[in-house]
Amino acid sequence: MMTSKNILAVCAHADDVDIGCGGTVARHVKSGNNVVILLMTKSFYAYYDGTILRTKDEGEIEEQESANVLGAKLINLGFETKDVPYSGETVEAINEVIDKYEIEVIYTHWYHDSHQDHRRTTQSVISAGRYVKSILMYEPEYPAGRSYSGFHNQYYVDITDTFEIKMEALKRHRSQIKKFGNDFLEAVEARARHRGYEIGSKYAECFEVLRLLGEV
Ligand SMILES: [Zn+2]
Repeated sequence: MMTSKNILAVCAHADDVDIGCGGTVARHVKSGNNVVILLMTKSFYAYYDGTILRTKDEGEIEEQESANVLGAKLINLGFETKDVPYSGETVEAINEVIDKYEIEVIYTHWYHDSHQDHRRTTQSVISAGRYVKSILMYEPEYPAGRSYSGFHNQYYVDITDTFEIKMEALKRHRSQIKKFGNDFLEAVEARARHRGYEIGSKYAECFEVLRLLGEV
């Protein structure tokens, strides 16, 4: 008998999961697994000069709509955007979710990412997820991830069947699309196509393995 697995997809900011592993999340949901998206930061976003990109309400609507498209449950921990701490508080907050939902597989940011929130999120996930069987780090998207170290394309998931769901979910982050433009969507598609080509499929997502026990 096939048992359903409990999956955690962690992201510092609302659109990170869709960009990095939205197709994989949708695939898990389609196969009957339970997926929790753990969003680290508040929904409100302002630039350093005070210009508001999205209000709290706008952000909450976008992130909930996107999670609904993927079929995942959304939890927002409400840390400060651009200032997620690597601290006992962060680790314990993640720990609580891992325990409550009996998480077996975690998807998170790439460890060497250039965004401070992404990096500290994954540092915290590694501490909190010390008993979790598998932890996979999704590929960063420009402008994040331009680091001294290169991403290792170690683990591929064929997302041909869920690529449309991934893009649908991503488009729900209307303020982000406004910020980055249509080129952003094209770049996300181009990479999924590129990773797909590498494994002989139409679309794929790629992961660097932190720990992998059995199949995910
Ligand atoms: Zn981010």
